[in-house]
Amino acid sequence: MAKSTRKLTIATLGSHCSLQVLKGAKDEGFRTLLVCEKRRLGLYLRFGFVDEIIEVDSLKEVLSEQCRKRLRNTNSVLIPHGTLVSQMKSDEIEKIDIPIFGNKWILRWEADRSLKEKLMREAGLSTPRSVKSKDDINALCIVKLHGAAGGRGYYLAWDRQSFEEGAKKLIDQKTIRSENDLYIQEFIRGVPVYLQYFYSPLTGQLELLGIDRRYESDIDGIGRIPARQQLGAEVEPSYNVIGNIPLVLRESLLDEVYKMGENFVRAAERLVSPGMPGPFCLEGVYDREGKFTTFEFSARIVAGTNLYLDGSPYSGLLYDDPMSMGRRIAREVKIASKKGKLDRIMT
Ligand code: AMP
Repeated sequence: MAKSTRKLTIATLGSHCSLQVLKGAKDEGFRTLLVCEKRRLGLYLRFGFVDEIIEVDSLKEVLSEQCRKRLRNTNSVLIPHGTLVSQMKSDEIEKIDIPIFGNKWILRWEADRSLKEKLMREAGLSTPRSVKSKDDINALCIVKLHGAAGGRGYYLAWDRQSFEEGAKKLIDQKTIRSENDLYIQEFIRGVPVYLQYFYSPLTGQLELLGIDRRYESDIDGIGRIPARQQLGAEVEPSYNVIGNIPLVLRESLLDEVYKMGENFVRAAERLVSPGMPGPFCLEGVYDREGKFTTFEFSARIVAGTNLYLDGSPYSGLLYDDPMSMGRRIAREVKIASKKGKLDRIMT
């Protein structure tokens, strides 16, 4: 879809990484627009780089004719992030008739567990075994909810009984309707690492722009409670993301990191045209041998990139400007626009 040559606006939903995205857009000379819930206006009005705000009661209103009209009138490119993916169904995202940065069709592959596994396998990534039935649980497993839940509600199970106990709690809390809403995956022992990439179809280059780990409550706090008290209190961990912590990897691991990212880009091109333009993240665990097992991917910007507003130890190797992921997106839009190749980077 070719955009008009009229000046473009970079737009996004007010949540997740919107500050970084709009700051980066402003640094690259764009007009910026935020679709913002009224209850959150107080936060976003603090920042001078937000040029225009569409006030809504709920972010779902981005699908409304009125909102889409304003986005069209401002010649907006919508930058998708985790909130768009978690609050809207794949059908709804695919129907948005505003140009979306990246590949909106691949967001369905992020949201659907079996498509997700298919793409990771096609990319040749090592992935955790998925366990089809609670009767097949014979080692430590992590039980997950579908969709981008940010780790909320995840729990550990090691046999049928522990699975059922955890499921019952979620059903009682009305988080899920039945055990069928759960997905069981082999638990990989090691350290979780999130690899933040950007792929440019304009240059054909894959860039590693940052690495982080998540700070999750309360699994990351449980280590502060001594073993005796943990046992006494029958502590059950949860994996709710609260923030992100910067990380650099051993340099000897970086070559493999680039290869995994490139394999993912090629696999996406084969399975979900037009592939993986823009930001994405491979999410996994390094075990004690330094082997990476990928348990998830995000096919759009992740919130862990918020760490690197002024650039990261990896973006600094590629750019002299402080290059956040948000700014990198805006720069891609700028270059594509100048070259008349906007259709290569948006869907
Ligand atoms: P996710 O929302 O899927 O990115 O996962 C949230 C958190 O759960 C991660 O940051 C990890 O701490 C943990 N996790 C998810 N999958 C696995 C796995 N297969 N093995 C070990 N830990 C996992």
